[in-house]
Amino acid sequence: LDFVPNHVLEIMEHLFHSGFDVWLVGGALRDFFSGQAPKDWDLATSASPSEIMRLFPRVIPVGIQHGTVRIHTAQGDIEVTTYGKPGREGILADLGRRDFTVNALALSYPEGRLLDPHGGSEDLRHHLLKTVGNARSRLNEDPLRILRAGRFLGVYGYRIHPNVSAAVKDSLAGIDGIAVERIRDEMLKLIMGKHVEKAFEWMRRCGVLRKVLPELERECRRNRRSSCPFDAYRHTLYTVHNSPFRLRVRLAALFHRLGQKTSVHGAGRRENRSLNSQASAHAAFAVMDRWRMPQQLIQDVMILVRNHIPRNTLRWGGAQLRRLLAAVGPDLLEDLLDLAYADRISGNCREKSLEELNRLRSRISVQMKSRPPLHIGDLALNGTDVMQALSLKPGPLVGEILEQIHQWVLDEPGLNVRDVLIDRIQAKYGGISQNK
Ligand code: ATP
Ligand code: MG
Repeated sequence: LDFVPNHVLEIMEHLFHSGFDVWLVGGALRDFFSGQAPKDWDLATSASPSEIMRLFPRVIPVGIQHGTVRIHTAQGDIEVTTYGKPGREGILADLGRRDFTVNALALSYPEGRLLDPHGGSEDLRHHLLKTVGNARSRLNEDPLRILRAGRFLGVYGYRIHPNVSAAVKDSLAGIDGIAVERIRDEMLKLIMGKHVEKAFEWMRRCGVLRKVLPELERECRRNRRSSCPFDAYRHTLYTVHNSPFRLRVRLAALFHRLGQKTSVHGAGRRENRSLNSQASAHAAFAVMDRWRMPQQLIQDVMILVRNHIPRNTLRWGGAQLRRLLAAVGPDLLEDLLDLAYADRISGNCREKSLEELNRLRSRISVQMKSRPPLHIGDLALNGTDVMQALSLKPGPLVGEILEQIHQWVLDEPGLNVRDVLIDRIQAKYGGISQNK
């Protein structure tokens, strides 16, 4: 129990000294035995929910019907399953209800003795994911377990036992009945894993992808020959390891080619590219909105998708660079470059395109040093100036004119001088004032 932090041990001790059995269970044990740092802590105890509520000041009942409560501590919440019956029988019944053998281990308090009735530690050693009991009935009982299997594959690279894969299709329909938040939470954990590509491949093969991410499934089918979008995806791992904050880069990598229709070759290439990235941003929105993700994250991912940098930027002029910087903003710039890096490293002419990306990077930093007017607020004049110069009343037109000025100044930063801009708008919009 040396690896268990104090705030968890204190809870175990309190339960133990109050006369209850208490065990460490769940993902923490799995992580510990796989040599990874546990992230969250789950306990199982013979105490009932009401007894737990008596013992601890801050308890949230999360799934009373399953006998699960959450004990709140300053260091994080701890999920506690109550199994009622004391003694060995109680904990064995609890472990028998768990999803996979690698999750059906328990460590006793205070001895730290391992209880492993389903051969979970053996399976852990072999990186093998098996259900506790019959795969078909266990997946049927709770189809979220299908997504959990995908998640464990994505995070740990486990091999999924053929019985589990074969049982998936019988339970697929049940996925429709699962709360979208639970699906989302498993999917986001999967997406942050090291073996995402394998997990998506498995999900596609078993028909799960069509259920939870039909947009991506369609994209895979469309690109039969070039491999899946996970291709680019895989490589984001080099750059964004261990950084949960970079979830947005991973999401952008995953979504950046969704819903595209038009070819980007030949005439009209630039327009088509822009239509395509709009379409992808739309598709990305649809998924993240369905998953009820935070608005800020959704917006950030959409900006990354919409402004995804194409493979060849050698001919980009300063104006185009500044327009990109204005559209993306300084906070997302590193993420955008990581995304471009991931995309290039997954292409075939790596050397050349990495060289090109390095050039882009240095050109961007030169641009940034010259402090270009990335925001409307950086302009040498504001809305009041515009209204005065053109005798306009407040209204959307003022904003549109400011937008136009911003474009001029991004194209040619030297124009960002008050008098120069006033002359320009009077020349272009002078006629408007009489009509308003
Ligand atoms: P993490 O490290 O991400 O928390 P975890 O395996 O601990 O992974 P939790 O959702 O915290 O996942 O669940 C804790 C434990 O509860 C699991 O290890 C498993 O034993 C059990 N469990 C969770 N969800 C299910 C389920 N749908 N069916 C059966 N048992 C489950
Ligand atoms: Mg857990």
